[in-house]
Amino acid sequence: MSNPTDGLAETIAELEAYLGTEGVLSRPQDMGRYRRDWSGDYEGTPAAVIRPRHVSEVSEAIKICNRREAEIVPQGGHTGLVGGATADRANQIVLSLEKMDRIRSLDPLGMSMVVEAGCVLQTAKDYAERSGCFFPLSLGAQGSCQIGGNISTNAGGVNVLRYGMMRSLVLGLEAVFPDGRIYSDLRALRKNNTGLDLKQLFIGTEGTLGIVTAATLKLYSKPRWVETAWVSADNIADIMQLFGYLRGEAGDFLSAFELMTPPCLDLALELDSGVSLVRNEVKHFAAHALVEFSSSGGPDLKPWITELIANAFEQGLAKAGIVAQSASHSKMFWRIRELMVEAQQKRGLHLRTDVSVPISSISPFIAKVTQAVEKTLPGSLVVAYGHVGDGNIHVNVLPPEDFNGFQGKLGALTATINEVVDGFDGSISAEHGIGITKREEFAKRIGETHLDMMKMIKRSIDPKNVLSPGRIFRIGPNSARGPQSVEMDPRPE
Ligand SMILES: Cc1cc2nc3c(=O)[nH]c(=O)nc-3n(C[C@H](O)[C@H](O)[C@H](O)COP(=O)(O)OP(=O)(O)OC[C@H]3O[C@@H](n4cnc5c(N)ncnc54)[C@H](O)[C@@H]3O)c2cc1C
Repeated sequence: MSNPTDGLAETIAELEAYLGTEGVLSRPQDMGRYRRDWSGDYEGTPAAVIRPRHVSEVSEAIKICNRREAEIVPQGGHTGLVGGATADRANQIVLSLEKMDRIRSLDPLGMSMVVEAGCVLQTAKDYAERSGCFFPLSLGAQGSCQIGGNISTNAGGVNVLRYGMMRSLVLGLEAVFPDGRIYSDLRALRKNNTGLDLKQLFIGTEGTLGIVTAATLKLYSKPRWVETAWVSADNIADIMQLFGYLRGEAGDFLSAFELMTPPCLDLALELDSGVSLVRNEVKHFAAHALVEFSSSGGPDLKPWITELIANAFEQGLAKAGIVAQSASHSKMFWRIRELMVEAQQKRGLHLRTDVSVPISSISPFIAKVTQAVEKTLPGSLVVAYGHVGDGNIHVNVLPPEDFNGFQGKLGALTATINEVVDGFDGSISAEHGIGITKREEFAKRIGETHLDMMKMIKRSIDPKNVLSPGRIFRIGPNSARGPQSVEMDPRPE
């Protein structure tokens, strides 16, 4: 068994000779932002950071690392928050895609654009918009996360309801396999039934099977009318009824439906009292929804949407509500959604989860999980909110005031939440993936056949286990399942 650091200096020297000193950072003082993720919860200093500029450079760099059995961790905007993009061992080489950030082309008739993996999501969205099109993936981290990261985590966000997740927005892909071979099929075909759809290997697999270097993304017509409403109700069950009603009546025009519970508003106010306009009108209610409707053509939506909301009032599904009267009004509603995330971050150590349950179970799930968390840690604050369209609910937990032992409670709280999720046939990771953080909890829940198949695919594509080792599952002597992996890959985890 070779020592994991054997030959590392030679590997870095060979990478430097190929990529130049600009393309390789090997001094810890130059690695600041590559070491720490968005939350600051994950930190790890890699042996080096490589920054290729072209797919051919990615390919050559991977070949060098593979030949020398050096471990590679692809890194995008570092907003994944499950430790997937951070070096967890000092012998790992971070491969940053940030220098591959070009938009290669945009076809307004074919409604597609070819974007490199390191392009920040917001930049891609802005470019599409300037070209009269719309790229619908929208999430709180869009100013930092990158297209490659979005693909590797199959990101969702607020518009999933209407446009689906990243998987449904990728038409073509360019990627590099762990042995350096390039997979390139950037054709903008809407339909192509020729054999295995290999691009799926790279979508949602968290960099374990290859490095995404570019993608052909599906575009839509730019929305012409966008109407936003804030609606409050007596309880979450009514908000869910409201969701059913609006989805039934508005169909595809309903593009976002974000559920929030009262602590979300309190947190937003901690950072900006300017959003109190909404707070004052709705503060007595126990459940809130930020709802967006959009349409790319046809008549003005506002009169119809106002009528729909009024009908919801008549049916008792809504008790307070405001249809935004201007773009800035609508912006303020969305600002509350963003601020409450920032406010949790500012509070310091807290538990973040991104679970999902069937949409029809959202209301009983939140009731049960809140109760269970309060039992596990009395006095804690449960901040529940999420994208109703994909059943993706964040059940975050803030510590009781002046409580110093929160770190020691994280495991018990996670177990409590996951147990309730299991009871509703849900998923312990709906957004961020498994990475390293959720690996053990994932291993407990996945069926043996499913796990074995995943490992079989990993071993056949990356037999030396050089790419994102230990992400999603372990392959090695400490593997949760089966000694057969020892034969395939004797490297220790
Ligand atoms: C405030 C906030 C809000 C968020 N909201 C949402 C949301 O609504 N919906 C949602 O789904 N997620 C959400 N997320 C999670 C996160 O933004 C997404 O998972 C995002 O897609 C990660 O992209 P990234 O570029 O930051 O990837 P990183 O964090 O850098 O990497 C994530 C994983 O992908 C791998 N990877 C990165 N780039 C590549 C590549 N080019 N090739 C191969 N592997 C690669 C990494 O190794 C890692 O395993 C949110 C995060 C934050 C901080």
